[in-house]
Amino acid sequence: MNIHEYQAKTLFEQYGVPVPKGTAATTPGECIAALAQLPEGPTMVKAQIHAGGRGKGTFTDGFKGGVKYCKTKAEALEIAGKMLGNTLVTLQTGPAGRKVQTVYFTGASAIKKEYYLAILLDRTTSHPVIVASTEGGVEIEKVAHATPEKIHKVFVDPACGLADFQVRELIFKLGLTGAEAKNAAKLIRNLYTCYWDTDAAMVEINPLITTPAGEVLALDAKVSFDDNALFRHPEIVALRDLNEEDPKEIEASKHALNYIALDGNIACLVNGAGLAMSTMDIIKHFGGTPANFLDVGGGATREQVVAAFKIILGDANVKGILVNIFGGIMDCNVIAQGIVEAVKEVGLKLPLVVRLEGNNAVAGKATLAASGLALVSGDTMADAARKIVKLVA
Ligand code: ADP
Ligand code: MG
Repeated sequence: MNIHEYQAKTLFEQYGVPVPKGTAATTPGECIAALAQLPEGPTMVKAQIHAGGRGKGTFTDGFKGGVKYCKTKAEALEIAGKMLGNTLVTLQTGPAGRKVQTVYFTGASAIKKEYYLAILLDRTTSHPVIVASTEGGVEIEKVAHATPEKIHKVFVDPACGLADFQVRELIFKLGLTGAEAKNAAKLIRNLYTCYWDTDAAMVEINPLITTPAGEVLALDAKVSFDDNALFRHPEIVALRDLNEEDPKEIEASKHALNYIALDGNIACLVNGAGLAMSTMDIIKHFGGTPANFLDVGGGATREQVVAAFKIILGDANVKGILVNIFGGIMDCNVIAQGIVEAVKEVGLKLPLVVRLEGNNAVAGKATLAASGLALVSGDTMADAARKIVKLVA
């Protein structure tokens, strides 16, 4: 789960990670109230969307920049009016962009130097890793590619926590001394506690800055959480912004389905993540493109299958459907009944290829045959994939 910059900064403040003072707003009236809480002077207006690269982004009406420096609060109010309700396209949003429904006002800081700092989970070592660089404010992927020696990593033993020598190592690598070093050390320790306590998947500050006064501040904040740990953080779940999520994925999460929308046109309904991955692969192999990843799980109920099928049918990009089930725990007949029930409710105008194998497959095939549904059956995975690719071509 992702949250907005302004929410991440509130979280940072709670953990003692310094940020410039700021307030968020969703309407012109709220903008006036929000600005009233900030001192007069240079103010930043920042579009709040769950995507980075806002500074270099462009709105669909041609207005440039989702992060704007304004000399006065009056100017900030005017700029916020141009952002609210407008759609911002950045390198991370895809061409459709994201509608800006919240803006964040924050004092413009005097920047001495920009750095990069992030904490995430390194899956190879199963350790949290702190990533830091003197090359902040720019795309970190480019830095990692062109000058990998400028990316510094410290792996933290999760049982021992972050050690002082590791913090000193990071400070040294960033070339910080005096007050800056002291402030940065405190910030890194507090950020690690924030990452750990909230079960974050990633906390990223780009840029982290030093100011002429020796302060160290998080100017941007990106935080995402491990969905599997959300059950123990109701206060974090409350920060979820459904405006930022694909409605199909929201619907899927209500039914505990593992669904991810993709940009192809062949929908897949599969049981098991591994089979779902290989189903997408085989569609690609035969020249098609998957419209989604959908794993209904090992013990899906008929209701879940109905919900899954409806989500698929609600996707305007979908031109054909491939159901690929290998029944181990899953009863193939439950899938078949779910498909029939969903089609009864919402109809089916698209080609449908079904491959049922394993537990109760014979009964499943009989249910489908008795329903009179116009479907094509696939004998093997390859056969089914080849057929659906041909049908949507
Ligand atoms: P994004 O990464 O989405 O482009 P950022 O929050 O990193 O958004 O903002 C882009 C750039 O704008 C930053 O690299 C920084 O140079 C500048 N900036 C952002 N917030 C402030 C601020 N409060 N004061 C001064 N400059 C800022
Ligand atoms: Mg940034």
